[in-house]
Amino acid sequence: MNLARQIEQYLPRQLLELVKDISGQAAKQGKRVYLVGGVVRDLLLGYPNFDLDLVVEGDAVKLAQRVAETSRAKLLAHHRFGTAKLRYENFTLDLATARKETYAKPGALPTVTPGTLKDDLVRRDFSINAMAISLAANDYGELVDPYQGKSDLEHRLIRVLHTGSFSDDATRILRAVRYEQRFGFEFEAQTAQLLKRDLPTLDTISGDRIRHELELIFKEKQPEFVINRLGELGVLPIISPFLKGDGWIAEKFDRARRLKKPTQLPSLYFCLLIYSFSKTGIEQFLARLNISAKLSRAMRDTLRLKTNLPLLDRPSLKPSEIYYLLREYEPLAIQVNAIASDSSMVHHHLQLFLTELRYVRTSLNGEELKRLGISAGPEMGQVLQVLHKAKLDGEVRTKADEKKLALSLKALDFHTDPEPPVE
Ligand code: ATP
Ligand code: MG
Repeated sequence: MNLARQIEQYLPRQLLELVKDISGQAAKQGKRVYLVGGVVRDLLLGYPNFDLDLVVEGDAVKLAQRVAETSRAKLLAHHRFGTAKLRYENFTLDLATARKETYAKPGALPTVTPGTLKDDLVRRDFSINAMAISLAANDYGELVDPYQGKSDLEHRLIRVLHTGSFSDDATRILRAVRYEQRFGFEFEAQTAQLLKRDLPTLDTISGDRIRHELELIFKEKQPEFVINRLGELGVLPIISPFLKGDGWIAEKFDRARRLKKPTQLPSLYFCLLIYSFSKTGIEQFLARLNISAKLSRAMRDTLRLKTNLPLLDRPSLKPSEIYYLLREYEPLAIQVNAIASDSSMVHHHLQLFLTELRYVRTSLNGEELKRLGISAGPEMGQVLQVLHKAKLDGEVRTKADEKKLALSLKALDFHTDPEPPVE
């Protein structure tokens, strides 16, 4: 089957020219280049995907170096892996040396040697991801499909390429569910059996790799479908005995999407995922997935704030009280609790902090207070705190108001302890 016409229609002109240029350079070095993986699958499905992966029969790094010399691409090469990234103004292209992989034991990283296109396809996760399109001049556009990927796409099936696939690399279990839910496909019968059989091998996968797959799941349009399905299949308890995929998650994920800028979404999803966890549960989870220090802080804060939410469920709270209740928490944790809480009052108070209170500053600064005769040190700290509270509570609005208040405090010879913050 030849897809030359489809490629020409599918790829943006600029990208098409880059790809053809690379293929031309490759021919000069006696190498062949192919489009592989996701882009081939999505081209056949008619979904846009301009994250191009190219496989080179031969040294991809050498080829990428040559391309970078003759164009304005920036090169990022990994000699050890035989891979290279070419970064252009509007696109990046990934080039990889065709490779052959063998697994010494489940969960181990594979041993890699250079190979043919076919070797490179057989090491892949599913038939629908194991297709290539030739970019060489003599058979440009020819589909290479040794594992009936196209037929599986038509029958809407996720199929592994061999019976040891999941036990070789159990991250494929997570990937299988991600594609199943993204495309609304089904597991081919034997694949479904193998997936069930090999669930325990998930224990052989490092925290970094599991976390990476969760991050990919969190980039999906509706990750809650994937999480629910992982629950149904019994995958979640293997990652953590406290993980649940349920209606609560689905509702809150949906709420998160409608609230938040997309850049923070994956972190929000992570925090929502552990919202029902105990303290020990979360520590286990953080360690198992090797979660970064920053996200760990937000996740711990999420649970700490959750236990303090009743304090925010009071209508009489002044803005300054809300401020002091919340100022110690990571904004992400506050956002998560705003999504998770079913009390509209709590929600309102948390949002008020996030959108307004945390940005409130006094108009007068230390220098100006000094000029009013207030000495640096504890006295000034106290005055600033009173001014800040008054500003939060709307008792002062202008700089003149603040001056007046500061002078009245000075007249009082103000050095009693300020009110303790509400805990
Ligand atoms: P998408 O990015 O749309 O989810 P993709 O196919 O581009 O899909 P990537 O995660 O970018 O997926 O991986 C690129 C290709 O590498 C896949 O198409 C697949 O063939 C292969 N691949 C990725 N991870 C694995 C794995 N764990 N085992 C085998 N092959 C894999
Ligand atoms: Mg991809």
